[in-house]
Amino acid sequence: MKPALSIQGLQKTYANGTHALSGVSLEIPAGDFFALLGPNGAGKTTLIGVTTGLVTMTGGTVQVFGVDIQKEPEKAREHIGLVPQEMNFNIFEKVIDIVVNQAGYYGISRRVALPRAEELLKKLGLYEKRNEISLRLSGGMKRRLLIARALIHEPRFLILDEPTAGVDVELRHGMWEFLKTLTAQGVTILLTTHYLEEAEQLCNNIAIIQKGSIIAHGTMKELLSKLQHETLILDCTAAIPDAVISTLGMYNARRVDEHTIEVDLAKEQRLSDVVLLLERHTIAVVTIRNKSGRLEEVFLRLTDSKQ
Ligand code: ADP
Repeated sequence: MKPALSIQGLQKTYANGTHALSGVSLEIPAGDFFALLGPNGAGKTTLIGVTTGLVTMTGGTVQVFGVDIQKEPEKAREHIGLVPQEMNFNIFEKVIDIVVNQAGYYGISRRVALPRAEELLKKLGLYEKRNEISLRLSGGMKRRLLIARALIHEPRFLILDEPTAGVDVELRHGMWEFLKTLTAQGVTILLTTHYLEEAEQLCNNIAIIQKGSIIAHGTMKELLSKLQHETLILDCTAAIPDAVISTLGMYNARRVDEHTIEVDLAKEQRLSDVVLLLERHTIAVVTIRNKSGRLEEVFLRLTDSKQ
């Protein structure tokens, strides 16, 4: 099957001379859940803008399911649903109308669009609000309305620019579940996010962009394997004497509090050895957790070194 997105040597220089994209090449296989990460100003929104036809490119090619976006822009656009960063709908329009009217842009009749819109609003927990004007929705609801609107023409490729920005934790998890059901149905998803945990939880493949160039690209597993060690926090049943901590020197053990230590576990080291060592001193480990998201560590390391 043709890839959902195929970008070759994409360049974008804005009128003021800013090189937002300097020869980006990227491929997103059909059916993938793909994360595009990068610091502010890296070029993520520009890349999405070009792909969706909102920004004109300076050079390169972009194909969506094999359709060249410059040669057949209408056809390419039909494949894509866009959830933009900003809430760009009419705040005085009713929720249901915002979704149904969007269908009109794709030549879908109201008769077909209405039941589809109702179904989408139900799935996204907005059905009760369908006759409210969008001004009355909370921030999280507005974001879900953007998703419903993006899906009304049943696109095969959904692009979300920072979909969970400003959405509280509970709603964010609900949205993740919804996005997972879409990929299970075969929809390809490209997502930009600042929440690295989000990318780590959801995505199979990932690219990191910085200053208009891709600096890392691969499977989530490949990226995470770039980590030389993981920092783990161990909570124990008993107070951990300094002498015991010194026996864990090869793991760079250090005290957090009386019952808690941090260790750095290198790739070739085993967590079970640390636990056994503690148990030999009659100290049982109650819980173990990662100090920070593993992806966050990779991200910081890669983007730092290229500054
Ligand atoms: P991101 O989405 O990763 O934060 P953007 O694509 O918004 O990055 O921006 C990439 C670069 O292009 C930045 O340096 C930004 O200032 C610049 N830029 C974005 N939009 C415009 C524009 N309309 N005119 C001029 N420069 C722009």
